[in-house]
Amino acid sequence: MFDLLVKGGTLPDGTVADIAITGDRIAEIAPKIEAEAREVIDATGDLVSPPFVDPHFHLDATLSYGLPRVNASGTLLEGISLWGELREIATVEEMVERALQYCDWAASTGLLAIRSHVDTTPDHLNTVTAMLEVREKVKDYIDLQLVAFPQDGLYRTPTGRENLIRALDMGVDVVGGIPHFERTMADGAESLADLCEIAAERGLRVDIHCDETDDPMSRHIETLAFETQRLGLQGRVAGSHLTSMHSMDNYYVSKLLPLIAEAGISAIPNPLINIVLQGRHDTFPKRRGLTRVKEMQAMGIPVGWGQDCVLDPWYSLGTADMLDVAFMGMHVAQMTHPEEMARCFTMVTETNAQIIGLEDYGLKKGAKASLVVLDAARPVDALRLRPARLAVVSKGKVIARAPRGDAGLSIPGRPENVRRRAPRR
Ligand SMILES: [Zn+2]
Repeated sequence: MFDLLVKGGTLPDGTVADIAITGDRIAEIAPKIEAEAREVIDATGDLVSPPFVDPHFHLDATLSYGLPRVNASGTLLEGISLWGELREIATVEEMVERALQYCDWAASTGLLAIRSHVDTTPDHLNTVTAMLEVREKVKDYIDLQLVAFPQDGLYRTPTGRENLIRALDMGVDVVGGIPHFERTMADGAESLADLCEIAAERGLRVDIHCDETDDPMSRHIETLAFETQRLGLQGRVAGSHLTSMHSMDNYYVSKLLPLIAEAGISAIPNPLINIVLQGRHDTFPKRRGLTRVKEMQAMGIPVGWGQDCVLDPWYSLGTADMLDVAFMGMHVAQMTHPEEMARCFTMVTETNAQIIGLEDYGLKKGAKASLVVLDAARPVDALRLRPARLAVVSKGKVIARAPRGDAGLSIPGRPENVRRRAPRR
């Protein structure tokens, strides 16, 4: 007797399978499982996917839009200064409550693993206290990984470095940084050497807000690749944003991409945010500011899609749905070939899981029993529709359900019910 049986679903690779769950693990996955289960979900004709993963988020700032005012210029820099005001007036309780509400949204969309940067700039470290509490509170249904993020620079504030270390000592999981925001290029490069050494000593992963600028001369990713190799951190380092690469000289990029690949660095572009933040100083033509996604993938560099922000000083919209993120990324990076569209779905599931080092992930025997049943037939249709999540299972438990997104029609001679699935070809 299994605890849960998900029957007849279509997996992202197109195969049809039953998935049997015992406790918090996938016990069996096969074309047909004839066995009893305490609970059965009929997923016939629906897509069954491993859960969505967000490799780049800011949970300490989320759902704060309008506090204490809105970002009038829409730029990254006004967002940073606005957040500087907010983090001084937000209480731990308020940050915890907003983050928990966001996690409810995430659970409802099947977003079950999140890597969140946590600002370590203020001496009170209320942000860190709050997010550690949230990590503990959501651990039964969301895997939350925290990054110590010196938002105002490691060296630009007197206690920047000390507070980052304090946050790691408090139990934050990953080392972060923001080299393009340090006072000089030299300080930025030095911060990367310092941060990678801290990570190597502690056996931690690294995730850097790297070159989030339109300045083509912002080349900290080159230093990050060098430090990763020097310290043997291959496979444990991610460069987030990398937007300057959009504007870089093509000859230089032809040298840079092999260096990134050689260092085993992953890339995390954040298309919703960067399509609105970048190019703000341009007249026309106006740059998109998204990094070179397909070009990096062609070199074998793992590239995921990150969400970054929802309703905060940097982004006034957002839904906690990684399909929205992939949908925007697919457009901005022009990933319109059928294989590229399908890859965008893989990016917000398997690739993101790989980038943040999630263990026991995926639809396979012995893996964590976490999955999503979507009101769509296949991944590309899921991206197009961003449909209802009919059921979300986390670690063996059904944690969310939603009705189908059908609409009723009252048009003579036409069907009474529309479900906007694409015709099969
Ligand atoms: Zn960020």
